[in-house]
Amino acid sequence: MKFYNLKENDEQVSFAGAVKQGLGKNQGLFFPTTMPKFDNIDELLAMPLVERSVKILLPFVEEDLTEKELTDIVTDAFNFPAVLQPIRNDRAILELFHGPTLAFKDFGARFMAKCLQAFVAKDAKASGETKPLTILTATSGDTGAAVAHAFHGIDNIRVVIMYPKGKISLLQEKMFTTLGGNIETLCVEGDFDDCQALVKQSFSDSELATTIGLNSANSINISRLLAQICYYFEAVAQLSRVKKDLGDIIFSIPSGNFGNLTAGLFAKAMGLPIKRFIAATNLNDTVPRYLETGEWTPNSTVATISNAMDVSNPNNWPRVEHMLQSGIVENGCVTSVSIDEEQTQSTVIQLSKLGYISEPHAAVAYKALQYSAVEGEFGVFLGTAHPAKFKDVVESILGQPLGLPKELADCAGEPILSKDMSNDFADLRAYLLA
Ligand SMILES: *Cc1c(COP(=O)(O)O)cnc(C)c1O
Repeated sequence: MKFYNLKENDEQVSFAGAVKQGLGKNQGLFFPTTMPKFDNIDELLAMPLVERSVKILLPFVEEDLTEKELTDIVTDAFNFPAVLQPIRNDRAILELFHGPTLAFKDFGARFMAKCLQAFVAKDAKASGETKPLTILTATSGDTGAAVAHAFHGIDNIRVVIMYPKGKISLLQEKMFTTLGGNIETLCVEGDFDDCQALVKQSFSDSELATTIGLNSANSINISRLLAQICYYFEAVAQLSRVKKDLGDIIFSIPSGNFGNLTAGLFAKAMGLPIKRFIAATNLNDTVPRYLETGEWTPNSTVATISNAMDVSNPNNWPRVEHMLQSGIVENGCVTSVSIDEEQTQSTVIQLSKLGYISEPHAAVAYKALQYSAVEGEFGVFLGTAHPAKFKDVVESILGQPLGLPKELADCAGEPILSKDMSNDFADLRAYLLA
């Protein structure tokens, strides 16, 4: 299958091309030319995660990877579970934070890293010379950790991660700035949108891009999104073991760049029974306002306690828009709700009264679900990060201490290796070329 550029439709590349390039010409996003559709959903749901995920992903990647190669990649990448936990009789959380950096981004980042590693090796074999790559990525927190861990120690791939100074928690920062080796981290004077703008500018500088073999590991990279399709199937698979009627399942997705929603829409388009989606945002409400008024008017980014969603110009939105407008999914299967800080905090408390310790991102999604779900719908909300990643906030809301899981305790005592950076593109350019 090919992937085409949503802005410059004539540009078509294979999966390997889309993964290596990240963005197409004119900063267009890649999108599959056809959407695979499964009519054997029950059979798929009965399979174990890795076997099923290979079936889901193969149609997208078969031009570049054999089934055996894909199986090795998926086995390696998805070496931790997605866990569905019931909260009440018609609510469940899909816990996506059991990977090495305790956030859902481990699924996409690990899959992408293994794919790129395979493609760099294949290219080297074919041409007789190794062309090193530079991964340049912006993070509002969890991307940095997931990408750093996924790529740490991979030969011929240099990783440069930018993050907004003072806008992420110390523990979050420690999770990706302490690795060293092929992982370089830049602490940028600005907010996440500034970091994202710097990434975009680097990509449009073709001299820079070619010289250092530039690639982005942001959620604009199609490989990350494809990997994320798999856990929607896993959620429905787990539900199908305890639930007869699968026609009433809705998902509430805590959204920042809307990659997670995009993957969910792919799953629905491929035949997975999902009735509809709620895209939950925090105060950065560009999308809910857009769906209501039809006008795209991003405000400046507001800092919130669900900081991985502090994005006012979500970079995956063109893919969502394309799917809604072209009928790949029914227009109307996505609604969006903005949840404020007070509601977020009171929802963390509400969930703890139900016996579940959550964190602000999941709480935003649960609140949106409580607000939008109607009688007879079964609501699944995504647990995108482990509560301990937001230890300070959760402890202050609940007034009780949280333990640190091993993954966090291990890096908490390590020194931060980042370099400070202005948000001036010339400085970044010089750094990357040095
Ligand atoms: C990245 C992230 C999100 C937002 O996901 P998108 O795919 O960018 O919408 C939500 N919650 C957490 C914890 C995250 O790290």
